[in-house]
Formats: sequence, structure tokens, C-alpha cells
Amino acid sequence: SAFEYAPAPESRSVVDIAPSYGLFIDGEFVDAAGGKVFKTVSPSTEEVLSEVARAGAEDVDRAVKAARKAFEKWSALPGSERAKYLFRIARIIQERSRELAVLETLDNGKPIKETRDADLPLVAAHFFYYAGWADKLDHAGYGANPRPLGVAGQVIPWNFPLLMLAWKIAPALATGNTVVLKPAETTPLSALFFADICRQAGLPKGVVNILPGYGDAGAALVEHPDVDKVAFTGSTAVGKAIARSVAGTDKKVTLELGGKGANIVFDDAPIDQAVEGIVNGIFFNQGQVCCAGSRLLVQESIQDELLDSLKRRLSTLRLGDPLDKNTDIGAINSSEQLARITTLVEQGEAEGAERWTAACEIPSAGYWFAPTLFTNVTQAHAIARDEIFGPVLSVLSFRTPDEAVAKANNSQYGLSAGIWTEKGSRILAVANKLRAGVVWANTFNKFDPTSPFGGYKESGFGREGGRHGLEAYLDV
Ligand code: NAD
Repeated sequence: SAFEYAPAPESRSVVDIAPSYGLFIDGEFVDAAGGKVFKTVSPSTEEVLSEVARAGAEDVDRAVKAARKAFEKWSALPGSERAKYLFRIARIIQERSRELAVLETLDNGKPIKETRDADLPLVAAHFFYYAGWADKLDHAGYGANPRPLGVAGQVIPWNFPLLMLAWKIAPALATGNTVVLKPAETTPLSALFFADICRQAGLPKGVVNILPGYGDAGAALVEHPDVDKVAFTGSTAVGKAIARSVAGTDKKVTLELGGKGANIVFDDAPIDQAVEGIVNGIFFNQGQVCCAGSRLLVQESIQDELLDSLKRRLSTLRLGDPLDKNTDIGAINSSEQLARITTLVEQGEAEGAERWTAACEIPSAGYWFAPTLFTNVTQAHAIARDEIFGPVLSVLSFRTPDEAVAKANNSQYGLSAGIWTEKGSRILAVANKLRAGVVWANTFNKFDPTSPFGGYKESGFGREGGRHGLEAYLDV
């Protein structure tokens, strides 16, 4: 009807995408030493967005040398001076957030609603927050004469390309370290845009270096003898390989790895609110979220009612063009990730779980997976244990709070959990027993730069965010 709210799709013309990009080393965009390039593709259309220089070991060495040289001056600046650069970067991110949101949506496939309302505001917030710390580290503010570690080698995944960059770069620079960062191979563009923002902010050359490339460049970076600190976010398998490769060196390391978060709904929970939280927990960013609530643990007495409401809600989600402001479910980031999701879902069916998939029209081009849930799931099923990293929810039930805790903790991972109940005492009792780095109560996927984030068990170690996130970049 004429009264229906239907904003026009966001226009891709708001952002200039160059046909090719170089590596960002020592303040300049340069070709890879070996001349190699790779294509980055829009997952919602399969269109080639740009051709990007592909870093190799020689480029890693060049970038680490530039960062080492820049470290001398950068670390000697008073914190108040470093803060000025970080505040400037934060403000430019805000000013250019529309361009960045469109670019991120094009390269990653996630809905513009999310890049505009979640990713970009959080990215700016992290730079503002850590800018505010830079001058508090001096003297009495932090105590014990904290010192930066040196050159940080940072490797990030594709699910929140710019936000993961902010989590890594903002605390590193605030504390006086310099950075060589490798974005994921499927999402290099927002990091290269950020390189340009560093130039716009007048950041001294070599303080931030960006090396698009594949796992070989990531490995060369973390193994480089002149890297003092390794920060990695990605899969548990690669995280373990990195832990092995830095063992026996003097490098400090933080690892943010996979998860299999439990969203626990008790029988006194407000059902409508819980349904929204469950949907946000597993369908935000198509479920490609390390702290996704990918296991729903529901108290047996309300299971039928909750699942009915949940399916009704899932049937209203709109899947499609991620630049459309009404879109809830965007594209899966790559054909490889789509294949991984498909394989695990087929395994769930083969193991006897019952599959329900929302009826959605799937676009002819691009990588898509409709919102899916599994009932009749046991703890032995792979879909209850393995991280799917897609829009797939496994539903299990429980009778008592103790059983809920036991099932939630029955995981190799320990990154996130959610609790839904009206009883404050139950929230505290259950939260204290959960082995998870973050526990949300009556909400899910809430992030804030002031709050530390990180895992138990195979979800990794070390904390990012908040005051605790500074410690990963300091000798105190
Ligand atoms: P991935 O581990 O394959 O890749 C992550 C990054 O590591 C990429 O930049 C990749 O090029 C690089 N890489 C690959 N092999 C490497 C090696 N041997 N040495 C160094 N770097 C290497 O993971 P992915 O599939 O891109 O991302 C999805 C995974 O990341 C999921 O398991 C998810 O849970 C995890 N993740 C965790 C968090 C967190 O904060 N805990 C956040 C986002 C994603």
C-alpha cells in the first residue's frame, strides 16, 4: 500500500571502488613483491569488485621493517598525542560511515541494516574508546610504567572485517605499538579503505600496514622473528597452528577462535522477547558470528509454544539484496563457507535430526542459505557440537537448571551464552556456572568497547575490549 514503509535500496554508487588495489606498506599503496593479485567478489551477486595485490613473505618482511622503524617514534609520543590521531581516525570513520557500510556490505554480503546500525557505529566507538585510554596510560593513570610490546602482527577473519580490524588496531595504537594487519582473503576492501583513512588522518608512515592476502601471508606474519605480539581471530584449527608456531618464542599471543553458544530459555521467560533474542542470536550476520547462539536450550514445558512462535517469526525474515534496507538475511560470505554449511546440515539430516527451513526465494546468483532449525537433536549429533558458522539453529531441551548448565557446558568451546528468565537470582546462579567468556541475560549479541571479550577452552585465550584488552599490548 502507499503507506507501507519501503525505503529505497542503498546505492552502491556512494562508494568508489578502484579496479585494483595495492598493499599498504609504510604509508604507500604498493604492488606485491611477486606481482601476485587476487580478485574479491561480491557474495550476493558473484560480481568481481576489484583486483587486489596478494602479499607474500617478502612483503611481510617489508611491512614488519616499516612498522619496526615507525615504532621508535610512535612509542615515544606522549599518549595525548597518540590520542589525537585515534580521535581523528574515529571522526573520519563516522564521517565516511555511509561509504564504509556500503563497501562492507558489497564485499561481505551482510545486510546494510547491520553494517549501518551495528558494525560501523561499533567501529567508531572502539577508536573513540581506546583514544580515551591513550593518555591515561602515562604515569599515575595506569601505574607500573606500562610499555608497548613493539610490532603487532594481526590476522583477522571475514565475518566482521572492519570491526575486527578496530578491535585489533585501536588498542594496539593507543598503547604505542605499531601494526601489520592481514585481512581475510574474501574481504580485503574495508581494510584498504581504512588504510586511506590513516593517510587522511595524517598518521605517521609505517604505524599501520595492511597486507591483503591468504593464509600463507598470515603464517609468514605470525612467524616473522621481528613481530613481538600476535593477535589472531579465526578458526580454532588455525589458532592451534599459530599457538604451536609461536611456542618457544618470546612473542605474546591472543587467540579469538570458534564457538557454539547456548541460548538457554527458562519456562518463565517472556516468550516474544526470547524469540527476538534467539533470532538475533543465530541469524544476525547469517549466523557467521563466533559468539552466535547456535544451540537453543529450551525448558521442556514451553518447547512447543516457543518453537511455534519461532517458526512464525522466521517466516517473516526477508532474504535477498543486502543493499536493500529491508533485508534481514544477506548472502553467505563465500562459496566455500556455503559448502561447509551445506555439508554440516546434510550431516544433521543423516544423523536423524529433524530439519525445518523457512520458505524463502533464493536469488539465482550469489551464495545463500535460508534460515534453518533442527529439532530432535541430541548432544551426540555433529550439529550440536561443531561450529556451523551459518544460519542454522540446533534445538535441545532440558528439565532443570542444572541440566541446562550441564548441556550448555558440554562443548569444546566456551565463548558465549544467553539466559532468558524473569528471575534475577536464577540469572546469577546460572551465569556463575557457565564456562563462557560472555553471558548475556535477556538479550544477545550486545557489544560494547568497554567490555572485555574472549573465550574459555577451545574458543581461545586472552581478552579483547575494555581495560583488559589493553593488557594484551603492554608489558606492565
Ligand atoms: P580462518 O582461520 O580460516 O581464517 C582467519 C584468518 O586467518 C584469515 O585472514 C586467513 O587468511 C588467515 N589464515 C589462514 N590460515 C592461516 C595460517 N596458517 N596462519 C596464519 N593465518 C592464517 O577462519 P575463517 O574461516 O576465515 O573464519 C571463521 C572462523 O573464525 C570461525 O571458526 C569463527 O568462529 C572464528 N571467529 C572467531 C571470532 C572470535 O572473536 N572468537 C570472531 C570471528 C570469527
